[in-house]
Amino acid sequence: MTQPVPAVPGAATREIISSLLLCADDPDFIVRRQLALTLGVFRAADASTGEDARATLARLAERDDYYEMRVAIMSSPMCSHGSGKSRRVLRGNGRPLLHRLGGMSESTDQPQGLEIRTYFVRNRNALVARADFGELYVDYYLHQAQHDFRHLPEHAELMKDALAALTLHCASRPLNENTAWTIHFADPLVNLFVTGDNVRGAVVGQLFTENVKEDGRNLLMSDILRGDPRHGYEPPRRSVVELTGTDVFGAVERFYERSEQRPARLFRCAEEDFVMVSAHPDCDMEWFEALDDSAVRVLDRGEELSLLERRFYRWDCGCTGLRMMQVLAPMMRNDPDQLFGDESSLRMSCPRCGARHAITREALEAYVAEGK
Ligand SMILES: [Zn+2]
Repeated sequence: MTQPVPAVPGAATREIISSLLLCADDPDFIVRRQLALTLGVFRAADASTGEDARATLARLAERDDYYEMRVAIMSSPMCSHGSGKSRRVLRGNGRPLLHRLGGMSESTDQPQGLEIRTYFVRNRNALVARADFGELYVDYYLHQAQHDFRHLPEHAELMKDALAALTLHCASRPLNENTAWTIHFADPLVNLFVTGDNVRGAVVGQLFTENVKEDGRNLLMSDILRGDPRHGYEPPRRSVVELTGTDVFGAVERFYERSEQRPARLFRCAEEDFVMVSAHPDCDMEWFEALDDSAVRVLDRGEELSLLERRFYRWDCGCTGLRMMQVLAPMMRNDPDQLFGDESSLRMSCPRCGARHAITREALEAYVAEGK
């Protein structure tokens, strides 16, 4: 599958790669790290691209001496950039089930985004996080339509599960934590990238199907960045877990089992309504392991649930044309002709969400001329 509307035959991939290379200067470590991962996949067969990619990796290595970045660069296993067409159209099924757990009443004030409620299950010592993801999924499809790409239906289903699992995970984590997961499946061959920021209440993702390295293994790679701009950040932490199957929820459960200090399980209450139950110390493990979808649906009937928190998440990457121009500005100052060639504009794809930003030469010249 290829990206639609390449300006020149075969130009689409190169355009995307070029745009990715420019992210090497992105102020956001997570973006740079993702770039390192993504670059690793472009095959040396494409000589010019391979050369660019190697040079950029070297630059990243120089700038980011974090252990995690070095690992990303050295392992740079499996990401790729690309997407497929989809027969999928925006679903119009409206708001699914209104969910209430523990007899809590519905909220009256509604901040932006989907609401996740977390509960403590008394006497069982487990945490429950639950949300209806219909709204987030609509935003995910709208985002594709807006940026002129479509994930294949079967890939979109994986993506939706990954978004749900990640968001439920984020809601169960400290507020100053930023999580990114890359889930690599060998069959179907795909890399799912999802990331969530608890500070901003934002989640976003992208999936990659082209040039994904086929090593026959399934992996989940987790990157955690903890901190905030005022108090600073801890060094990013990474863990990689090998998976046994190609089910997203199974992958996340495996990740919890191997990498977190406590097990967690994911359940489907309805088509877009999901629950994560994570065990706390002294959890009633017999009860925990016996849970299934139908038991979780009626959890509030048999268990005493205490509402701990309500959090809100929305689809939001934060990438903008202005931000892309910030990234492009140094290259524009150095060699505008190399950047634009004969074209009057270029498109940059965001490696986190796939958004395509069109930057005209005129606009970028003006931006640079203003001394920014
Ligand atoms: Zn983006």
